Amino acid sequence: MGFRTLGDADVASKRILVRVDFNVPVEAGRIVDDARVKAALPTIADLRKRRGRVILISHFDRPEGQRVPSMSLRPLAPILSQLIGAPVAFAEDCIGPIALGAVDKLRDGDVLLLENLRFHPGEEANDPAFARALAALADLYVNDAFSAAHRAHASTEGVAHLLPAYPGRSMQTELEHLERALGSPKRPVIALVGGAKVSTKIDLLNNLVGKLDYLAIGGGMANTFRFAQGHDVGASLAEKELAEIALKILDRAQALGCRVLLPTDVVVAETLDPGAPSRVIELDQIRPQERILDLGPVSLRQILAAINESATLIWNGPLGVFEVPPFDAGTLQVARHAAALAKSGKLIAVAGGGDTAAALGAAGLADDFSFVSTAGGAFLEWMAGKTLPGVAALDS
Ligand code: ADP
Ligand code: MG
Repeated sequence: MGFRTLGDADVASKRILVRVDFNVPVEAGRIVDDARVKAALPTIADLRKRRGRVILISHFDRPEGQRVPSMSLRPLAPILSQLIGAPVAFAEDCIGPIALGAVDKLRDGDVLLLENLRFHPGEEANDPAFARALAALADLYVNDAFSAAHRAHASTEGVAHLLPAYPGRSMQTELEHLERALGSPKRPVIALVGGAKVSTKIDLLNNLVGKLDYLAIGGGMANTFRFAQGHDVGASLAEKELAEIALKILDRAQALGCRVLLPTDVVVAETLDPGAPSRVIELDQIRPQERILDLGPVSLRQILAAINESATLIWNGPLGVFEVPPFDAGTLQVARHAAALAKSGKLIAVAGGGDTAAALGAAGLADDFSFVSTAGGAFLEWMAGKTLPGVAALDS
């Protein structure tokens, strides 16, 4: 990675096009989490302090190239304005005369938010004409949206080739932490991979086994591995058609010297209701109607011991059905252990993924981790070793 940093850019009196991710979660017309808006604040503050003219662009939801009024970014302008304590102008289009007119009115240190990029089909198509129309608004380009960097869209990829391009502060922080966790980590390194399905994480698992000392597999996906090895998994979620792929991943891990930890004991229940009657069993004691919903205590201790041996931990995917207590216990105990070690400086602990970040946040542990990425798809693709187009386009 050979990035220039935003600090190197001369931004005074310049028009700076800043790609942010303001695709915030909304329920019944209300924004339920403004974390993504807050993530853009360091870059906005930096540019304003240095008297740049800030032009923010983002997608929101999936209007699929149409102007959909309920998917307007306009409600974000007053929210941002409150957070930065300064006015935020809004323009009803992100390209063309309306956008250009609004940009012309900017003075040094001003902030302008443009309408949803995805109202134009050229955004997702990475249409060169649309990228040129975006580039025509500005002198410099900054990408501060790591969570959108796995997509080669006009605002994340195309435009980066048309203007001097820089990573924003949040993007930079994210890339530095990810590099430290998996690019050139302090060893031994352990990965915890859980979640529901193997099918969404085959590339990720294959990439990890080539880089790690330990791979602890939990969650629903562990059932697929245990089934593949000939164990009975009862009524558990398992992707039986992926048995062969699972065995290949295990073979590869062994050939590459990565020790794989799979649950040997588990928590099972017949229904997934909060507080449903459950029992702890050895793997093969499962009854036909029972489902594996969490790690058992022996498996848990094994994971904690492997974490104790490790200098770096990277985590994606809950280790059980963490949304429904008591099946959150395994995920929470591992999270508390990792958080305490990270807090005391004994472990570099990085986690990411939508549900993983939610689980750590709900447990109040996110701040003790070295870094928690809220990016979903981009984090997974990065863990799978893929080049993110939005990051590659910044490479100078
Ligand atoms: P992330 O969003 O962090 O990438 P995933 O979406 O891959 O994580 O996985 C989260 C989901 O996995 C949760 O909804 C959780 O309930 C589910 N899950 C975890 N363990 C199991 C299990 N044993 N059986 C069924 N689902 C599980
Ligand atoms: Mg998820």
